[in-house]
Amino acid sequence: MRIAMIGTGYVGLVTGTCFADLGHEVICVDNDASKVECLRNGEIPIFEPGLENMVKHNVSARRLSFTTSYADAVSDCEVVFIAVGTPTKETDGSADLTAVYAVAKEVAKHLKGYTVVVDKSTVPVGTGAEVDAIIRAANPNAEFDVASNPEFLREGSAIDDFMKPDRVVVGLEGDRPQQVMQALYRPLTLHETPIIYTSRTTAELTKYAANAFLATKVTFINEIADICERVGADVQDVSRGIGLDSRIGPKFLQAGAGFGGSCFPKDTLALTGTARKVGAPTLIVEAVMAANKERKRRMATKIISACDNNISGKTLGVLGVTFKPNTDDMRDAPSLDIIPLLQQAGAHIRAYDPEGMEEARTYLEDVEWVKDAYSVMLDADALLILTEWNEFRVLDFGKIKSLLRRPLIIDLRNIYSPAEVAAAGFDYHSVGREIVTSNA
Ligand code: NAD
Repeated sequence: MRIAMIGTGYVGLVTGTCFADLGHEVICVDNDASKVECLRNGEIPIFEPGLENMVKHNVSARRLSFTTSYADAVSDCEVVFIAVGTPTKETDGSADLTAVYAVAKEVAKHLKGYTVVVDKSTVPVGTGAEVDAIIRAANPNAEFDVASNPEFLREGSAIDDFMKPDRVVVGLEGDRPQQVMQALYRPLTLHETPIIYTSRTTAELTKYAANAFLATKVTFINEIADICERVGADVQDVSRGIGLDSRIGPKFLQAGAGFGGSCFPKDTLALTGTARKVGAPTLIVEAVMAANKERKRRMATKIISACDNNISGKTLGVLGVTFKPNTDDMRDAPSLDIIPLLQQAGAHIRAYDPEGMEEARTYLEDVEWVKDAYSVMLDADALLILTEWNEFRVLDFGKIKSLLRRPLIIDLRNIYSPAEVAAAGFDYHSVGREIVTSNA
C-alpha cells in the first residue's frame, strides 16, 4: 500500500519506517525543511535504538522517502497518517490541535481517489470529527474517511513496540475504511496482534485512558516508596509482591523520581481538561498530576538532606538527565525540575548523559557538561543517578571512590543494591529502601 506520514518526529519517523519495513511504500512529510534534508542525507534527528539501520535499509529498498511537499506525498496514497505534535496549550492546558488541523486543511487539497485519513497523534475526543469536517469543507468532492489509530509506542523501545504491540486500536465508522486498515495492518495480524476496531471517539479516549492509568501506577508506587522510607520497608519487594498479582501486573511499578517525557504530563493534563469540560471530572488523575509535581520537589529535598542539608558551594555529579534511558528526549524530564532546585540551593552541577546532553543544553543553564560518566565525579561531593542508562549499572566502585571527594551516592532509580554499595565503602541513598552507610 502507499502511505503518507505527515509529521516526521518520534512517532511519524518510527511508524513510517516500520510500515515501510513491513513492505508498504511510505512517504514521510515534514514542514521542517532542515529535518527533511537531514533525513535525505541519511542523518537521523532522534536517538532511537535500531532506527538508523532500519531507515537506511528501507530507503535503499525504495520503500521509504522524505519530502516537504504534500502534493508529492498525498495524491496517490490509500492512507494518510497525521502524526504531528499536540503539545499543551499554554492558556488552558488542553491539547493544542493547531498542527493537526493545519495538516487536515493541507491534506484536503491533495486528496485524489478514496483515502483513509488516520489520526495517529494523541488527540482529544471529537478531533476526528473535526478533521472530517475540515477536509469536507476544504474539498467537498473528496472521497475519504477519517479514522483514529492512537500510537502506544514507548521511546527507547519504539521499534519493538510497533512490530510486536500488545494491541492496535482503530476507531472508525463503516466497512470501507475498516477494509483499508485491515490491509494496512495485515502483516501484524500474521503475528496474532489483537486489533480492536471501535468507534473513533472510543479510540481517542482509549489513548488518554492508557497514559493516565500508567501515570497513576507510577505515582502510586512512588507514594508507597515514601511510606517504605518512613517505616523501613523495601519498595522493590513491595513492587514484586503486588506486581506478581496478575490483576496488577509488574510493569510501571519501579519507584523513582516522578514521571516525565513527552506524553504522560501533557496527556494527563489534557484528559483532566476534557473530563471537567464534559462534567465528569477525574479526581484521581488530578491528584496524580499534583503528586507528581510535588515528587520532583521532594527528590531535590531528599538529595539536599542526604548531603547533610547543605549543598551550597558543593559540586554534585549527575548521571543521566533524560526522562528515561535510550532516548534523547528531554521534554518534561524530572531533571529539569530537580537540577534548578539544587542550583538554587547553591550547588554546582556537573552532568553527563549518553544521548541527551545536546538537547538538555537548551533547557538547563549553568551546568558543566562532561564527556563520560567518570568525569562527573572528580572532586564531586556526591554522585546522583537521575536516569538508569545501562552504562551506569556496572560502574567501577573503586574508581568512583578514588574520584569523589566524599563517598556518597544518591540513586533515584534504584539501580544498585544497598548492601553491595555499602560494602564498597559508600553511603547510599535510594528510593523506598533503607539508607545504608559505608561498612568498608
Ligand atoms: P514531534 O514533535 O517529535 O514530531 C512532530 C513533527 O511534526 C515535527 O517533526 C514537526 O516538524 C512536524 N510538523 C508539525 N506541523 C507540521 C505540518 N503542518 N506539516 C508537516 N509536519 C509538521 O512529536 P511526536 O513525539 O512524534 O508526537 C506526535 C504525536 O504522537 C503527539 O500527539 C504525541 O502525543 C503522540 N505520541 C507520542 C509518543 C512519543 O513517545 N513521542 C508516543 C505515542 C504518541
